[in-house]
Amino acid sequence: MRSATLFLSFLLHAEIKELTILHTNDLHSHLFPHIETWISDTREVGGFANLATLVKREKAANSDTIYIDSGDYFSGPYLSTLTKGKAVINSMNFLGLDAACIGNHEFDHGWDNMLEQMQEATFPILNGNIFFEGTNELVWNNPYLVIEKGGIKIGLIGLHGKFAFYDTINFKMTQGIEARNEEEYLRKYIAELEPITDLIILSIHQGMPGRQSSLGKTDVERSLRKDIMLAKNVPGVDVIISGHAHQGTPKALVSNGTIIVSTNAYTTELGKLKIKYDTEKDQIISHSNKLITIFDDEIEDDPDMLREIKFWQKEVEKIASIPVFTSTKKLVRAYGKESNMGNLFADAVAASDERIDVAVINSGALRQDIGAGIVTKGDLISAFPFPNTLVMTKLKGIQVREIFNHAAGMTNGVLQISENSRYSFTPGEQVHEIWIKGELVADEKEYWVAAPNFVTQGGDGYWEFQNAIEYIDTGVVIVDAVEDFIQGEEMYEPKYEGRILLK
Ligand code: FE
Repeated sequence: MRSATLFLSFLLHAEIKELTILHTNDLHSHLFPHIETWISDTREVGGFANLATLVKREKAANSDTIYIDSGDYFSGPYLSTLTKGKAVINSMNFLGLDAACIGNHEFDHGWDNMLEQMQEATFPILNGNIFFEGTNELVWNNPYLVIEKGGIKIGLIGLHGKFAFYDTINFKMTQGIEARNEEEYLRKYIAELEPITDLIILSIHQGMPGRQSSLGKTDVERSLRKDIMLAKNVPGVDVIISGHAHQGTPKALVSNGTIIVSTNAYTTELGKLKIKYDTEKDQIISHSNKLITIFDDEIEDDPDMLREIKFWQKEVEKIASIPVFTSTKKLVRAYGKESNMGNLFADAVAASDERIDVAVINSGALRQDIGAGIVTKGDLISAFPFPNTLVMTKLKGIQVREIFNHAAGMTNGVLQISENSRYSFTPGEQVHEIWIKGELVADEKEYWVAAPNFVTQGGDGYWEFQNAIEYIDTGVVIVDAVEDFIQGEEMYEPKYEGRILLK
């Protein structure tokens, strides 16, 4: 009798509970609204002040709402670079986040800097599979947390895909630390959380960086393949919020019962996943996802956030006036021939990693000459105003020839080239001879060629980089590479060496 009563009361108490999960990823320091041509040529999108307003609005309308970000908030517009992420973390404190995981770009200024900046966060940051090399000590010792919302106990885990970690972070930035198999640690944390929670949500940064827009279902599935496979291999995760692919899921993907969502990058949109949880069945019985495009002209700025990002903008102006080095001569650009500024930038890129055989810089990236004398960080940024990252590609000699042939065609200016390498060409026609490290390029030989990510992604028509045998985006910002290169060498002598020969 007693047990029958208990059973009846259990049935009566079986409930459907609702939860809204707001989600973003790959914010990439886009603190201010900007134009994304794939969304609109005229209407600005994104920005932290708009995002903060939306999150506050959603949370005020429904208190059973959590907001999670899946990494890569650092690196993008220079507010992040110049403050090594400090401006971003401090601004994120006003976003209303319940948690965020760590992405590869959080390591762009080294793991020690990552730790330093994360201390400033007033929201929980999660990672459970990046360790100090050869130890069992997590670099950021916070693998998961348990929160209760809408009467649901949620276990929230943060991980970084091992592949993405080694694929996209400059190894100089991660010396002494290592990423371990995400599946293994996911299983471990699920086992720990399952007995004490109703739902398990994984915030993970992994996969392959893809295109910028959600073009279609197959496209989405290709980009989020790592997440689909992870859900297949490790049962027990209710929701995966993924970052890194820069690929939105207008409709959530479902793999092995796991709901997978992600947004497009650069604060362009806020994801809103609504779920219904059946307490008796102990599972999600329905869900719907929506990607809300953040149009600046539709949303009021959040005043607290606006104050914070304006503060950082002023700080950055101060940082820009810091002297970096002294140049004995004027640094000048050139579009159709060798330039001493091009030589400086190419040499700096080539010196950033000992594997690099040759570095090239698209002449069009150099936008402003720098006078002789003291050169500031701001001067370097004005000279190369793009937050491009340094990409290393392994190419065959025949591919290198293809690239220089395109440069010789002069549709987009010549490629500036690093020291000990040179080429001769007829403008508007073709390249003749190419020397890398003093030797003529051989068709079948393989070379490590470094360049700004703009060109390696096919910018200025340099599509051949996309056929590289290996492709590593180091995440290092080009201007930072120049600063690193020149530091310690207080006096710099700009040079012309006959690296680009016209025939
Ligand atoms: Fe990433």
